[in-house]
Amino acid sequence: MKQKVLIVGAGIGGLATALRLAKAGYEVEIVEKNGQAGGRLNQIKKDGFTFDTGPSFFSMSYEFAEFVHDCGIEMPFEFVELDPLYSVNFSDNPQKNYHLYKDIDRLAEQFKDLEPEFKAKMEKYLDKSGQIFNDTVDIVIKNNFDSIFDYMSSLMQVNPVHLPVLTRNFWNQVSRNFSSKEVREILSLVAFFLGRTPFDTMAIYTLLSYTEFKHDGYYNVKGGMYQIVVGLVRELEKAGVKITYNTEIVDYETKNNDKEISHLIDSTNHVWRADTYVINADAAVWRHRIFKRKAFSTARMNRMQWTMGYLTFYIGIKGKLPHVNHHNYYLGSNYKEYANKVLSEPGTLEKPYYYVNVVSKHNPDCAPEGCESLFFVCPVPNLLHKTDWSDKDDVVNSIIDNFSQRIGQDIRPNIVSRTIYTPEDWQNQFGLYKGSGLGLAHTMMQIGAFRPKNHDERYKNVFYVGASTIPGAGLPMAIISSKLVTERVLKQLKK
Ligand SMILES: Cc1cc2nc3c(=O)[nH]c(=O)nc-3n(C[C@H](O)[C@H](O)[C@H](O)COP(=O)(O)OP(=O)(O)OC[C@H]3O[C@@H](n4cnc5c(N)ncnc54)[C@H](O)[C@@H]3O)c2cc1C
Repeated sequence: MKQKVLIVGAGIGGLATALRLAKAGYEVEIVEKNGQAGGRLNQIKKDGFTFDTGPSFFSMSYEFAEFVHDCGIEMPFEFVELDPLYSVNFSDNPQKNYHLYKDIDRLAEQFKDLEPEFKAKMEKYLDKSGQIFNDTVDIVIKNNFDSIFDYMSSLMQVNPVHLPVLTRNFWNQVSRNFSSKEVREILSLVAFFLGRTPFDTMAIYTLLSYTEFKHDGYYNVKGGMYQIVVGLVRELEKAGVKITYNTEIVDYETKNNDKEISHLIDSTNHVWRADTYVINADAAVWRHRIFKRKAFSTARMNRMQWTMGYLTFYIGIKGKLPHVNHHNYYLGSNYKEYANKVLSEPGTLEKPYYYVNVVSKHNPDCAPEGCESLFFVCPVPNLLHKTDWSDKDDVVNSIIDNFSQRIGQDIRPNIVSRTIYTPEDWQNQFGLYKGSGLGLAHTMMQIGAFRPKNHDERYKNVFYVGASTIPGAGLPMAIISSKLVTERVLKQLKK
């Protein structure tokens, strides 16, 4: 009889792992707390509009290509490369939009009055970021570590020329290369994609600048990001994987002298049995809430470094916004002060910085004829720092007012659909600790062998995949995570 693997959670990490294991010949089943698959990569359909809930683009497309190759299938969705990558607007000069082209000459043209010798500086900066990327990605990111010693040995293989970078933060590294406020702020924005700020993100992550501008760029998906999930679910159905929705695992029983899990128990007391369990729920939250581990006690969880929360809202409007690009960042004039406070001081919300994705720009099916669907993301403190969200409508209204002013078009009378997710919603819907949008932060002591492991400390038939285990947050990282956990599971099952 085939060995059975039960996967808890139908986020992208869970779906990708399910397909890999089904293709490797195992019987695979998924249980998911919500009514549809995707986790944070989800979709809202409302009032005739379609919105992606979380990710709006992704990098490292070749990780998806490798994944479908490993599974022996065709790519189940269609990529669309972004160029410009995104546009940036500053509140003190709202008429001007900077477009982040991959072509360095086109990029340099926009900064010629602000940053002398931009092109040469950018090439030097990207060369260094590229060296960091090439010298670390295979050794540190795409590797399973069996111990801290194993991890340290891998780190020793990294070219020592990068050691000084370890002493800097993202902002310092960018500032060593560029002198203008605008260029520094624009190039350090990518640190926010890791759920923290350029001032508390390690400089090694400037490798992200290389991934965005040079290496592979950013991609959208034709029809909206949720087509990734639609495509994966279709492939899972073909491979005979069953997904049961509206099923939340809340407890477990052990066997073999407490060395293995015998079964999981859902909130209706139904029992779920398998030989092996892969947990796609947040790897730290699961150990805290379900296994009740000491190392993940409430006090310790609260001391860990979590990424920021997100206030996201999904707006459908009548009318088109021809002057607004697909991906846009709206920045204020107090970047440093804002970045230093956004994680912990709710007062900063008075001058919000935000991102707007015009979903319907390249996906007309996502809005009724003559309408536009807009997705706003505003970084905010997670629930460790701001517990009361009764002011959510005021914050959202202030952002919509600000956006209307900055684009010179009042969208307020044309809003026909409005949905808001605060960090409380992110927490309750997807089990994210204190509504932390990307899970555990990527600090020195929370990456590699120091991140919650992808195999359980006690139960040898339990494994983890997703953002809070290795290697970290983001869609390509979830695909890498599925590969790393599959290696572990196959090794265990073949023993
Ligand atoms: C606002 C926002 C914007 C983002 N933008 C981008 C972007 O542009 N590009 C990018 O690459 N990444 C982006 N990300 C990050 C990306 O969404 C995540 O890193 C990725 O989707 C995480 O996938 P996952 O499989 O680890 O977990 P999740 O998506 O969290 O999936 C875990 C699943 O487990 C389920 N679950 C939890 N507990 C249980 C339980 N007890 N029983 C049953 N089921 C359970 C949950 O309901 C969920 O479906 C963004 C994230 C957010 C929040």
